Amino acid sequence: MIPSVLPTYNRAPFAFQKGEGTWLIADDGRRFLDLGAGIAVNALGHAHPALVAALTDQAQALWHTSNLYQIPAQQALADKLVAHTFADTAFFTNSGTESCELAVKMARKHFHDAGQPDRTDIITFSGSFHGRSSAGIAAAGSDKMTKGFGPLLPGFVHLDFGDHDALTAAAASPTVCAILVEPVQGEGGIRPVPDQCLKGLRDLADAHGLLLIFDEVQCGVGRTGKLFAHEWSGITPDIMMVAKGIGGGFPLGAVLATERAASGMTAGTHGSTYGGNPLGCAVGNAVMDIIADPAFLAEVNRKAGLLRQKLEGLVASHPDVFEGVRGAGLMLGLKCKATNTDIVQAGYAQDILTVPAADNVIRLLPPLTITDDEIAQAIDRLDAAAATVAHHLA
Ligand SMILES: *Cc1c(COP(=O)(O)O)cnc(C)c1O
Repeated sequence: MIPSVLPTYNRAPFAFQKGEGTWLIADDGRRFLDLGAGIAVNALGHAHPALVAALTDQAQALWHTSNLYQIPAQQALADKLVAHTFADTAFFTNSGTESCELAVKMARKHFHDAGQPDRTDIITFSGSFHGRSSAGIAAAGSDKMTKGFGPLLPGFVHLDFGDHDALTAAAASPTVCAILVEPVQGEGGIRPVPDQCLKGLRDLADAHGLLLIFDEVQCGVGRTGKLFAHEWSGITPDIMMVAKGIGGGFPLGAVLATERAASGMTAGTHGSTYGGNPLGCAVGNAVMDIIADPAFLAEVNRKAGLLRQKLEGLVASHPDVFEGVRGAGLMLGLKCKATNTDIVQAGYAQDILTVPAADNVIRLLPPLTITDDEIAQAIDRLDAAAATVAHHLA
C-alpha cells in the first residue's frame, strides 16, 4: 500500500523536535551537529533570535494580502537586494525552482520583445541542478530527473561541464538566448566554476549578445564568504536565481535582474500568489541585515579557512575513505573513495549530519554561524565516522 506521504524521498529514520544554532535535537533527545543546514537553507542556524522575532512580530500583525496591494516588507527587501548586488530589480518567489521558471521566462521574453523571437534556447551544463519543476528538470536534463516525465519543456542545450569547445560552438547559434550556470554546483557534487571560466562565460555572452543567468540558489547568500558567489570572479550576471539561504528556513526565493534583462516583464506577464508575502519578506529582511554585513562575511571566510584546513587534515588521516576537499567558503565537499552515503550514515551514528551529493561527494553546508568549537567537534565526529567506514573497508 502506498504510504500516506508520497514516497519520493529516502529519509533517515529519525525526526527532530527542536533546533538551536548548529544543533538539532532528535525526538529521543540525541543532539546532532547539523552540517547540512536543511541543504544550505538555515544559513543562520536554527531558531536564530532575530529571525524568530521577525517572523513572530509579522505573524502577529499580518500574514498575507496578495500582490494586488503594496507590500512594504517586499519593497524593503527588494531595495536591499538591489543596493547590494548587480541587480536593478527583484521578483520574489517561494522556492528555487520557481526562480528557475521566471529566469527562463524572463530571458525568452527579453529576446521576444527585442524582435529576436527565435532566440529561445538556453545553454546548461551536466551535473547542474535547477529544481524539480518542468523547466528545472528540462534545464538540468539528467536522465535521473527527466526519465518518464516527457515531453520535456524544449529549448535547452545541454553541454558537458568544462567542454569549452562545445560551449564556444553552441554560444554562436542564432537560436540561443542565454547561458544558465551555478557558479558552484551543489547537487552535482560541490563543483566550483573557476573564476576565469565565469569571466569567459561573461565574455562569450557579451560577444554573442546572450544573457548570462546564474543559479545561486545554493551558493548564494553568504555561503561562499561573499554575499553572492559570483562576486569572487569580479563579473556579474544579467539574471540571478536566489532561494534557500535568503529565507533562513522560511520558504522564500527571488529572481534578481538588470533593467535590460527584465525589460520584457511588464504588468501581467508574471505573478505568484504567495511570492513576496509579508511573512517571508520579514524574515528575508532580517537575514539580509545580518549576512550582508561585511564583518559577518569576514567571519564566514575566517571560519571557512579553519574548516577547510581541518578537513584537509581529516582527508590526510583517512586516505582510504576520502580523496580530497573542494568547494568555496562554507560550501565544502569531501570527495570520497568509500561510498559517500555510507559515510553520511556513519556520521548519523556519531550524531553529525552531512548531505550526500553526486560524484560520490558528501557536502558540508553548516550554518554560517557555526562556531570554532563546533568546527572542532565536527571534525572529531567526522573522524570517528571515517574510522568506522575504514574499518568496514579493511
Ligand atoms: C535547491 C536548488 C534549486 C531548487 O530549489 P527548490 O527550493 O528546491 O525548488 C535550484 N537550484 C539550485 C542550485 C539548488 O541547489
